[in-house]
Amino acid sequence: MTQRENLLDLTPDEAETRLSTFMSEVGEPEYRVRQVLRRLWQNPAASFDAMTELPAALRRELDSAFALPRLELVVRQKSVDGTQKFLFRLSDGEAIETVAIPEGNRVTLCISSQAGCALRCAFCATGAMGFSRNLEVHEIAGQVREMRLIDEPVDVTNIVFMGMGEPLMNWKAVDPVLTLLNDPRALGIGARHITISTVGVLPGIVALGQRPEQFRLAISIHAPTDELRRSLMPINVKYPLADVIEAAQVFDRRVTFEYVMLGGVNDGAEHARQLAELARECRAFVNLIPLHPGGSQGFAATPPEGIARFARAVRDRGVEVAIRKSRGMDIAAACGQLRVERLGRRPPRAAKQHGDIQVA
Ligand code: SAH
Repeated sequence: MTQRENLLDLTPDEAETRLSTFMSEVGEPEYRVRQVLRRLWQNPAASFDAMTELPAALRRELDSAFALPRLELVVRQKSVDGTQKFLFRLSDGEAIETVAIPEGNRVTLCISSQAGCALRCAFCATGAMGFSRNLEVHEIAGQVREMRLIDEPVDVTNIVFMGMGEPLMNWKAVDPVLTLLNDPRALGIGARHITISTVGVLPGIVALGQRPEQFRLAISIHAPTDELRRSLMPINVKYPLADVIEAAQVFDRRVTFEYVMLGGVNDGAEHARQLAELARECRAFVNLIPLHPGGSQGFAATPPEGIARFARAVRDRGVEVAIRKSRGMDIAAACGQLRVERLGRRPPRAAKQHGDIQVA
């Protein structure tokens, strides 16, 4: 059997061109292109067969030429606070997580960009499992598509790349995914409602900054000195704070610094002062994250009073700061925790294949 072409790995322009050629080959009118295009992402169909607005014969022809792969939903958990966590299995058996977080009239979907992660941040459950592979375009954007297809669909308004993996080490796929998320012919989510979170992969930040859309950038800082940051985030050897700060400065939009509060490690008065200084240098907004206890080997959360005190110290130095609410505490909703809970801390399947930086 010849390999069917996966329409969900294409950008809207590419899919349009491909479908246009196909329709003329099978002698169908051009308006069929738009009909199928709409059913890829906007109002997704579970299969070609479900596109009942098309003639049955055309549906069969489409099905023999193209694939519309689904992600297999293995676990769906609901937290008492309304947060939902999804575990999807991919065609090669890899498992990835997606979290939906409602807040007022928004629903933020936290999506994964890699199976596992190569970066091994000391407090992160995904880091502990190691890197398996980069996700493909349809596996990343498919997490949002599935929200429209499942029973009790989830109406996603915002996207954060804060699930498993480092998005800027999979730029080759994340770049077209951003197009699919944002394009009105695909998922139609406003660029300002899409946030890429990174440890500070410089070439990726530059590539993101070159896109014309107003996507948001969040940088995981987590420590205000190289020495401390190196001990928590091995990537700091390759991209030390000075580089990260420079990247944040050249990025032409306001960035957010993420700072996970680790009791007795990075939450002292001196740290607050140093962090405020860095944030001021690049006019960054600071987001303090309470440590999600599951999977964070050996670290203790800073108590709420300590986080409030730290926030005040940063704010008093003229930096905008917010404390992120911890959500889904009862369903292991932090990065990588559900997969660890279900599958155990398996060693990475393909550890040799390291997460190289891919910048198109
Ligand atoms: N690799 C990217 C995106 C995925 S992680 C990045 O590091 O930014 C998204 C955020 O969750 C990061 O800020 C990460 O440091 C944070 N995180 C990881 N484990 C956590 C935990 N146990 N508690 C709180 N935040 C955590």
